[in-house]
Amino acid sequence: MSRIAIIRKKAKLRGLFGIRARLVILALILVCPLMLDRIRLLEHTRATQLAAVANNVATLAQRASDAQREVISSVEAVLKSAAYIHAGASQIGRSCSILRASLRVDLPSIRMLSVADKNGLVYCSTAATFVGARVGDRAYFRRALELHDFVVSDFVVGAQSGKGTILAAYPVSAVDTGEEAVLIAGMNLDWLSDIMTNLAGHAGLSVVMIDGEGTVLAASPNQRSQIGFKLDRAPLAFALGANPPEHELATSHDDDDRLLAVSRIPGTNARLVMTLDENVVSAAIDQEIRTAYLQLGLVCLIALLGALIAAERLIVKPISMLTSAAQRFAHGDWAARANRAKLPSEFQPLARAFNAMAAQLGQRERELLETNNNLSMMASMDLLSGLGNRRGFQNRLDFEWVRAVQNGHCLALLMLDVDHFKMFNDSYGHPEGDACLSRIGEALAGVANDTGGFAARYGGEEFCLLLPETDAAAAVVVGEMVRDTIERLALPHRSSVFQRVTISVGVAAAVPADDAVPSDLLEAADAALYAAKHRGRNTVVEHGLMRTAAPAAMAIAS
Ligand code: GH3
Ligand code: MG
Ligand code: MG
Repeated sequence: MSRIAIIRKKAKLRGLFGIRARLVILALILVCPLMLDRIRLLEHTRATQLAAVANNVATLAQRASDAQREVISSVEAVLKSAAYIHAGASQIGRSCSILRASLRVDLPSIRMLSVADKNGLVYCSTAATFVGARVGDRAYFRRALELHDFVVSDFVVGAQSGKGTILAAYPVSAVDTGEEAVLIAGMNLDWLSDIMTNLAGHAGLSVVMIDGEGTVLAASPNQRSQIGFKLDRAPLAFALGANPPEHELATSHDDDDRLLAVSRIPGTNARLVMTLDENVVSAAIDQEIRTAYLQLGLVCLIALLGALIAAERLIVKPISMLTSAAQRFAHGDWAARANRAKLPSEFQPLARAFNAMAAQLGQRERELLETNNNLSMMASMDLLSGLGNRRGFQNRLDFEWVRAVQNGHCLALLMLDVDHFKMFNDSYGHPEGDACLSRIGEALAGVANDTGGFAARYGGEEFCLLLPETDAAAAVVVGEMVRDTIERLALPHRSSVFQRVTISVGVAAAVPADDAVPSDLLEAADAALYAAKHRGRNTVVEHGLMRTAAPAAMAIAS
């Protein structure tokens, strides 16, 4: 790439990154990090919230496990002591009434205590409805008889109550080999409903308890409709497959971005299955994040507009105002000043400096003009005679010529030459010659003043008198007046035949024709002067061949 192309590209880039763009970028640099930090904070809050809910789930599972274990151990203790009581009381034949009496005060872990014979017929119970029930075919009952030890049932739905419960069995034979009865206790599962109720407030979280087959035995209020049905296939497979150790939680994510957590109920095949829908949990915070993005967009837009307006009002406009004042000044408007009232305070010193500079430059320009005028006036003056010089005369001739062309007036010119001036100098000396020329200049100025003409020293001892709006006849009269005035001055000239200083006058007058130029008039007057010299000097001759636009204005040599 050529050097020029690179320079052009750089200039283009500089144009793009003008003051507006820079301010916009600055505004974005200020605003974006704040907004992005807010979004990051929200994202973090979302993750924290999810973690908190997951933690809650784990805590609840832990509590469920602890509560169940507590219930089981207290039920075991109660059953064992009841077995002793039963063994002792059966010998006096009042075991049932003693048992019922011993459980009159509600125990927190036991709903009911029953006694069944070896065939599973319940013949004594703290809950009258159980008396007569047959539990001989129940697995926990048979296992208790087999093992002679404390056995806990799976989570079962009571045949009579219709409510889910867990039963514990303890054969009296474990403490008294002669006795065949089995003590059965229904556990108090209030902890389960506590947990379910506790979870009811969590949006996106559902908890169910399933048995070893996957049937829903209990559910949080929002999942009540599932009770008695099999769990959904996906969570079910995981819940039954997962076999976490006691007190621990098995977790997994399903395809719908749901967190599944499973914990085992100690001593049973039942499992607590918790499903956490992360989308629902984080719905509120997601909405906040969306709003934050929207706010970011809006704030950025407002920042952009604000920066643009600020750049325009505070920087670009003041700069253009100052530039325009400087440009007007540069184009000769010396009165151009920066309007400080409309400028921001930061630009005031610059405007003040500009105005001071403009005032000073304006003053200097005026002085310069004045000096220039004086100089050009001096350049057009003849110091000896006090009249205009040849340059001044030429300018005035051009001007009056143009005026005469425009108005169609006649313009007359008188060329004057001092007679035998060389001899004057020779006779009286050069300084005296100068004084003579000065006196002639004064006299000519007086005539010019009287006739409205313009007198000048054309060079050496030659003078001219320009007479605007004067025809040839009038010019000849003025010429005669000038000649007479000089003669009357009676300046002595001993070498002249007239014995005094005299002048010869050539007159030309014309209404400028289209193809004529000022020098035509000058040449004609000069020719007439030449003729006057030839005619003996001290005389006035009018040029007779000068062409004019109007035949009437044709001058005829006298
Ligand atoms: P003519 O009548 O034919 O005009 O004769 P003339 O002597 O006047 O003409 P010429 O051209 O021969 O001489 C002009 C003289 O004018 C010559 C010169 O010394 C004199 N002269 C020109 N300028 C000045 C001046 O500024 N001061 C003085 N003192 N003399 C000047
Ligand atoms: Mg001469
Ligand atoms: Mg002369």
